[in-house]
Amino acid sequence: MISELSGKLFIGGGWKTGVGARIAVLNPATGESIGEIAASTADEINEAVAAARAAFRGWADLPAKARSGALHRLGDAIAADADGMARIMTMEQGKPLNEARGEILKLAEACHFYAEEAVRVHGEIVPGDTTDHHSLVIREPIGVVGAITPWNYPAELVGWKLCASLAAGCTIVIKPADLTPFTALAIARKVEEAKIPAGVVNVITGPGSVVGQALVEHPGVDKIAFTGSSSVGLRIQQSATTVKRMSLELGGNCPMIVTESADLDAAVKGAVRRSFRNMGQICIAINRVYVARPIYEAFLAKVKVAAEALTIGNGLDKPDADLGAMASADPLAKTKEHLGDALAKGARLVTGGAAPEGEAFARGHFFRPTVVADCTHAMKVMSEETFGPLLGVAPYDGLDEAIARANDTPYGLASYVYAKDMDEVRYLTTRLDYGNVAVNNVDAGVMNAPYGGRKQSGVGYEHGREGMLEYFNFKHIRIRHDEPKGR
Ligand code: NAD
Repeated sequence: MISELSGKLFIGGGWKTGVGARIAVLNPATGESIGEIAASTADEINEAVAAARAAFRGWADLPAKARSGALHRLGDAIAADADGMARIMTMEQGKPLNEARGEILKLAEACHFYAEEAVRVHGEIVPGDTTDHHSLVIREPIGVVGAITPWNYPAELVGWKLCASLAAGCTIVIKPADLTPFTALAIARKVEEAKIPAGVVNVITGPGSVVGQALVEHPGVDKIAFTGSSSVGLRIQQSATTVKRMSLELGGNCPMIVTESADLDAAVKGAVRRSFRNMGQICIAINRVYVARPIYEAFLAKVKVAAEALTIGNGLDKPDADLGAMASADPLAKTKEHLGDALAKGARLVTGGAAPEGEAFARGHFFRPTVVADCTHAMKVMSEETFGPLLGVAPYDGLDEAIARANDTPYGLASYVYAKDMDEVRYLTTRLDYGNVAVNNVDAGVMNAPYGGRKQSGVGYEHGREGMLEYFNFKHIRIRHDEPKGR
């Protein structure tokens, strides 16, 4: 299937071979080329935006039930081909096949969730300030959305934007990450199968600084829905040439606090899962853990055992491995840099610190899950987003100290608390300056509740009803009534 998608763009309901330069896409577990994408040209970008514009009125004017039906069909088509789509994702991103399949099924779930939301878009009738007036407040789709996505969750991060846009009545031009374009193109295949009208969904490819930037600057794009790094998000915000709506889901540096009342085994299990899943390449990965001093060494001993029990492999050959290859050389290099910085500044290596040995790992971007202890905020592992399988741990001596350190970051995406004492839970959850706080679990983002960051982690929300609000304008219609004639 990848060979059929190689070099292709999906514009106006049809496939065309891009005329621009080619960029190779590599399997990060082996270094082998699996295909190539076309760098979309200015004409092709204009064509995609024009197709989305042409499709907009018809799509927006459809009864909500028809848009809902289309999204249900899309969810069904995606779920029916979960194995095939997961294979594509594993080949380009590196995560093990079973995990990729899980992500595809969550994309299908997003389709069904927003299909259901599409038919529940209500307005309000506001009482007038005089008896002969009343006001209607209705929601209308914004228009053409430019969606720009990263490589760590190639299906879900496209899907949240796609599904909420379509449910609201918007049309969309998607620009996926260069590392993982084929999952997005495979989604376009499913858009075709689901018989979603031509032009409602378009997928173009190419370097972000050119093709993504062109969408940001395009006067025909009404809203940018971006997920990626804080630095690129800031650049996007600063470089728009016309006023347009934006939602920016950006980087994180997420803390976890483990109090003395916590279920220690549950906290360890949570920490290891959310630090190392997808090789730590998650915006809501736990980057740093603050543990109450009396249980600090016990926590470290258990985390070492749990991290060392994780299995690593080529995700295609070992579908049920806990961890696969990292997506490219860059996040691996950053992980090593942050590890070296921590060790040079006095951190203690608890486990990991090197690539796994053996022929199977020789050509891919592999690294063992790594834990460093006795960390301070002078170390990058505690103050910057590593985006790799590296976890920093430090002891604390009082909840206020833990809160101050947890909030000591420009980011505000997700935070985690393990505590059984409900007074502690309330104290911590009200003081953590994050858009998401997960207590005694590590799933900070779920489909039916808003998910978004504060501070340098972004503006706007995905998931839940709030995620769909990002694709509406409100319109106020103020009506004056006369007394009816012949009353
Ligand atoms: P990135 O910012 O480098 O790239 C993201 C996307 O933006 C890519 O498609 C890229 O091609 C494009 N892009 C690059 N320069 C651009 C420009 N000038 N104009 C427009 N588009 C441009 O991020 P990445 O390395 O792909 O992803 C990792 C980052 O994403 C991490 O910081 C991570 O925390 C963040 N992330 C955030 C969330 C969230 O929900 N908050 C989720 C996943 C990832």
